Amino acid sequence: MAAKLIKGTEIREQILEEITAEVAEIKEKHGVVPGLVTILVGENPASMSYVTLKIKTAHRVGFHEIQDSQSEDLSEDALLGLIDKYNKDETINGILVQLPLPKHVDEKKVLNAIDPDKDVDGFHPVNVGRLMIGGGELKFPPCTPAGIQEMIVRAGVETKGAEVVVVGRSNIVGKPIANMMLQKGVGANSTVTIVHTGTKDLASHCQRADILIVAAGVPGLVKPEWIKPGSCVIDVGVNRIGEKISEKTGKKIAILSGDVDFDAAKEIAGWITPVPGGVGPMTITMLMKNTLKSLKFKLGIA
Ligand code: NAD
Repeated sequence: MAAKLIKGTEIREQILEEITAEVAEIKEKHGVVPGLVTILVGENPASMSYVTLKIKTAHRVGFHEIQDSQSEDLSEDALLGLIDKYNKDETINGILVQLPLPKHVDEKKVLNAIDPDKDVDGFHPVNVGRLMIGGGELKFPPCTPAGIQEMIVRAGVETKGAEVVVVGRSNIVGKPIANMMLQKGVGANSTVTIVHTGTKDLASHCQRADILIVAAGVPGLVKPEWIKPGSCVIDVGVNRIGEKISEKTGKKIAILSGDVDFDAAKEIAGWITPVPGGVGPMTITMLMKNTLKSLKFKLGIA
């Protein structure tokens, strides 16, 4: 294999250790720890397991954490009331509403009710604007794009002047990572192209990418011949392509694949992320980093 593997599982451990140390230091100096609340409405099994993992990780790094589980029939007004309560709660620095919400609730209205200074997911329009302006304005980069940038930086990949091609224009991955990579500063300062379903010739754009970030959700979309030799390939796609029996638990688990033909691509690229174990573990990690940042902003030490 020619390419160096960028392992999200390893980078996650490094970052969580850094966060744990910083939380302990802040606790000693300022007598406070970051507080994160996760609001879950209903019993969607996937949402429940994400929330459990978020709370477990928050606990591991020494945060004050609250899991606020509500029944499926919670009214929109009651949910807005809860958000208002946590917006005013001095012990809470990050508010996360687990999506999807039940159909009777207006998701946009709920997310927009979160105080932008506690919006550690970075999806509030104020934070989208801050991201666009960049520099000192940026408070909370959305977690998956922040994880991608962190992986590129920690792998030692040069971003200044690099041709970055982003496949996908979603609000949670494609558009924000493209914006982040074109800002001035560390891990950015790149020349960025976004390609999508309306793009005429995907291959020719991908072929000139020094850094290719793929977030389309289409297994095997990126062919080996689209990859520039020596480039950095970040595969964000998580696609269920089948099922298998877990050797550990004996239970059925999903077989996952990315958007890139990994086996062929790893012989051409200089760096590549695997799926699973690549970008995936970074999202919750960056949620912790944003929550810590939120407290640091409040204390004036960010
Ligand atoms: P999305 O469906 O909202 O957006 C996909 C984008 O890809 C769209 O903008 C679309 O234009 C583009 N696209 C789709 N098919 C294409 C094609 N054939 N050619 C060119 N462009 C095409 O998806 P998303 O939420 O951005 O997620 C993308 C993938 O990343 C999914 O597989 C998702 O599961 C994964 N994901 C992983 C993480 C993580 O690992 N933490 C987080 C978010 C998303």
